[in-house]
Amino acid sequence: MKLEQLAHIMKTHGIIGAGGAGFPSGTKLNSKADTIILNCAECEPLFKLHRQLLATYTFEIMTALTHVKEAVGAKQVIIALKPSYKEAIDRVNYYLPSFNDFRISLLPKVYPVGDEIILIYETTGRVVKPGKLPITEGVIVYNVETMLNTYYAIEEDKNVTEKYITITGEIKNPGTFKVPVGITVAEAVALTGGAKSDDCMYLGGGLMTGNVVYPNDPITKKLNAILVLPKNSPIIQKRLANPAINIRKAMSICCQCRSCTDLCSRNLLGYPIEPHLFMRAVTKGMDSDSEAVLNSFYCSQCGLCELYSCPQDLSPRSIINKVRAELRAKGVSTPENPKFTGVSSDRNYKQVQMNRLRSRLGVTGYYVPATLDEKVPDFKEVKIMLNQHIGPVADAVVKKGDKVTCGQLIGTTEGKLGSDVHSSVDGTVIAVTDMYVIIKRRSGKK
Ligand code: SF4
Ligand code: SF4
Repeated sequence: MKLEQLAHIMKTHGIIGAGGAGFPSGTKLNSKADTIILNCAECEPLFKLHRQLLATYTFEIMTALTHVKEAVGAKQVIIALKPSYKEAIDRVNYYLPSFNDFRISLLPKVYPVGDEIILIYETTGRVVKPGKLPITEGVIVYNVETMLNTYYAIEEDKNVTEKYITITGEIKNPGTFKVPVGITVAEAVALTGGAKSDDCMYLGGGLMTGNVVYPNDPITKKLNAILVLPKNSPIIQKRLANPAINIRKAMSICCQCRSCTDLCSRNLLGYPIEPHLFMRAVTKGMDSDSEAVLNSFYCSQCGLCELYSCPQDLSPRSIINKVRAELRAKGVSTPENPKFTGVSSDRNYKQVQMNRLRSRLGVTGYYVPATLDEKVPDFKEVKIMLNQHIGPVADAVVKKGDKVTCGQLIGTTEGKLGSDVHSSVDGTVIAVTDMYVIIKRRSGKK
């Protein structure tokens, strides 16, 4: 299959990065590459779905990778996962002799090894320079569910209408569930038997990188996990903190110990970000165009600085996020020609082990077996967002009162960056706005 053909299939079948970012998958296919990496690092502390999907749909995922390999002319496919994902490793090894130029790469048990840039370094030794894309090093990275969706698109002409989500935390039966895109967070959590107490909140997308989501929020194609946590847990409280108070707190107690910089995952790779200097610049009211502030554009938002490294419980990541958004609003973009200092010689000793991270976050008790459950949940309607991908919002192509079927196109991105949007149910459209389509499910049917 040709590169453009595969890119078109991904776009029109609604495939986006199912790993959280929502990058339209087809847009990665604009150039040849010598290496394809399957990202099954799953380094967010409580995730399970990628290793489970790889163990369950091994052949399908490896077949999709073969299509990508052929389209981009790659010489190798690397399946990157951790030694503890034994079932997935066994299944991949079973099929490996049938797939040419595939190999397994075992990753260290550290966070955040699933960050694309870090994954590429760990599996190939290549460093994507600051501000550049993986393709500049000849690499394309896809995650497990994205490849499963690609298999269904190519082999069965099936559009993306469902999402796998790990749901765990303060709930009765943790698990990974397959749910229709557009049902509510509350309906998804109900599949677990519900929260153990009324005093819980939901974190969507992961302990380190996720955000608070609410019971009526719709499930999107990029939501990987829902973590149910006590409202007063430090992780939830961090997310709810007022950014202005975060800065005032930093002004009074940041002691410039530089622990945030010493353990910064991007700094260790040679990127110019130094969060302790950023904190000093921001809290001392320095110009927003100072080097220390502008270098915050190279932060990956991994969250280590604020959830692990800082002894004063400060929030460099959140402050970086706020300042960056303000800079972007003023038209400031990533600096050109950044300094690259090379990979730190003591990087190996400074990486954060997963078990230590779980323990520090106080979530070791939530790291329990979670079975993969594909039963269809009970729901009455779906709210399908038209902005699930990075890039311009899709344009609705249905109107109130239209009857639609599961898999039917409801939002198009023709002529622009993005990925099309499809109905996840048979039903009737009851509302359409610039941002979403609500579809009432036909009774008794999916
Ligand atoms: S780790 Fe915390 S206290 Fe130390 S420099 Fe960074 S923000 Fe300041
Ligand atoms: S979130 Fe903190 S630790 Fe992670 S890359 Fe950004 S500055 Fe570095």
